Amino acid sequence: MRSYRDFHRESIDAPEDFWRREASRIHWETPFDTVLDRSNPPFARWFCGGRTNLCYNAVDRHLATRAQQNALVYVSTETGIESQYTYAELHAEVNRMAAVMRSLGVKRGERVLIYLPMIPEAVFAMLACARLGAIHSVVFGGFAAPSLAARIDDAKPVLIVSADAGARGGRVIDYTPLVDEAMSRAQHAPQKVLLIDRKLAPNRVKASYFVDYEPLREQYSDAQIPCEWLESNEPSYILYTSGTTGKPKGVQRDVGGYAVALAASMEYIFEGRAGDTMFTASDIGWVVGHSYIIYAPLLAGMTTVMYEGTPIRPDGGIWWRLVEQYRINLMFTAPTAIRVLKKQDPALLRAADLSSLRTLFLAGEPLDEPTASWISDALGKPVVDNYWQTETGWPMLAIQRGVEALPQKLGSPGVPVYGYGLTLRDENTGEPCATGEKGVITIDYPLPPGCMQTVWGDDARFVKTYWESVPGHQVYSTFDWGVQDTEGYVTILGRTDDVINVAGHRLGTREIEEAISSHASVAEVAVVGVEDALKGQAALAFVVLRDANAAADPAAAKTLEASIAATVDRNLGAIGRPARVHFVAMLPKTRSGKLLRRAIAALAEGHDPGDLPTIEDASALEQIREAVANRAA
Ligand code: AMP
Repeated sequence: MRSYRDFHRESIDAPEDFWRREASRIHWETPFDTVLDRSNPPFARWFCGGRTNLCYNAVDRHLATRAQQNALVYVSTETGIESQYTYAELHAEVNRMAAVMRSLGVKRGERVLIYLPMIPEAVFAMLACARLGAIHSVVFGGFAAPSLAARIDDAKPVLIVSADAGARGGRVIDYTPLVDEAMSRAQHAPQKVLLIDRKLAPNRVKASYFVDYEPLREQYSDAQIPCEWLESNEPSYILYTSGTTGKPKGVQRDVGGYAVALAASMEYIFEGRAGDTMFTASDIGWVVGHSYIIYAPLLAGMTTVMYEGTPIRPDGGIWWRLVEQYRINLMFTAPTAIRVLKKQDPALLRAADLSSLRTLFLAGEPLDEPTASWISDALGKPVVDNYWQTETGWPMLAIQRGVEALPQKLGSPGVPVYGYGLTLRDENTGEPCATGEKGVITIDYPLPPGCMQTVWGDDARFVKTYWESVPGHQVYSTFDWGVQDTEGYVTILGRTDDVINVAGHRLGTREIEEAISSHASVAEVAVVGVEDALKGQAALAFVVLRDANAAADPAAAKTLEASIAATVDRNLGAIGRPARVHFVAMLPKTRSGKLLRRAIAALAEGHDPGDLPTIEDASALEQIREAVANRAA
């Protein structure tokens, strides 16, 4: 077995040699002439001149050897539908979808916005875009109309693909009114909205731009659409993510670098092999869904399991029964899901035959020690924490068992992954930290293949946000704090910015504040993240009302809290809804008027906020303390 240390060092010292070798994992229609173009830092271009296609590599390439193997297993505990698609069937469905999209005007380089629940058509639509060389932008189905409209205006899609409805926990969520409202709010007007009719919503909104997919699918049932051969650095997709400002950033990814990075990660990090079955319980609206429900398992010739539903319906044994039924080898989810399952009867886990399962991967938020110990004891299998973000597209920190099975250390996602020149730096000087010293997690130039190329349509924002925040050094900032031990293991200590992480979902506190501010009774608001036993973090809102008496009695405060929550649902989506709204007369601010969010968060968690010499009016702190104490009482 190779040594992790040598492997990592080689990837950093000689990235061209390292990645040239890895590039042979995928099909190149035209070979690349330059492995890495560093002529314009901080931008990096990988496999320049090479022409390839993600859909060809994920689907067509496997037809010769595994046409009859399942590519996609679909299970919905919301609708009771279970279906399976072999690689040959997936190929046919993707061709149909591509033909329909083409008939609606989708061409290479154009954007298609996908606003879909977890249904197989979401996979077909993403792969169809890849086939046509169009750029998909998947928007999580939990986002409300104004958020959707903002993404329509930024990506300017020619087409939207949506459905009549989503379903969660037995509740149907009508999509057409949301899409319709987004269409009327957006400045940019996509030509059509292609609608998958699941027959869940009885009263669909009727508008001339809605086109039903099913009749078109019939019409193009025998279509064969050739793959567009794209230069490796052409964009494959845009995925929006939250940052410090209210305006989400469109993370743009390439084609060739992404394919190579994911294919390599399958062997070195996930130990996945062609023919294996992988179940990633996430959503296609998040990066984990893009990379490890769809592209990576298919690139590797595996079977991927797509699941619509919660981990506890019809009961807490459902995921383990799926492992048994489909002989699942690899599972990937977020720690919150495991914390939810931990509350279930352990007999449900023991009742299933889990012999096929090799490893459980967890990412997206900190993995606390009790959860990690519980699940690894219960399963008797390795549990691999891995740390990354939407921007990187694949793990930055992990125990890379396919390289060397280093021991795990509870509380740490592991050591830097090959390709990442990961360094902890002092936030004031930008110099590397000593071991044991807290610093900002940064990546040296260049980012490895598969990471974000830029912010869609805004190179300046990419440079300024990510590469100019560490003093004196042009390095990529993750905006996470960490600490590294003598053996290289890194522990994550939370975000350096105003981003919070609720149940593995990344939310900008500014986005939630903007949504709350639109409520007529609200004068000012601060949103902070506090520790939550189940979801990792929860959002708390502290609101100053226009009329302080409006929440004077408990009943009025309760009504107002509900109506503020409803405003967040309408403007941002239920995922942004704060766990609590506290009413205060004043918010703690600096003399220059900046909100003291960290002090608010500390108080809300019952800690001392420390010395705050810049505070304008210290009595504001007392108000926060009281508001939290009163509600707890
Ligand atoms: P997202 O872009 O939504 O995937 O969120 C990425 C952020 O989630 C990171 O910047 C971290 O703050 C956090 N995160 C992801 N994975 C882990 C992990 N394994 N441990 C601790 N925090 C994590």
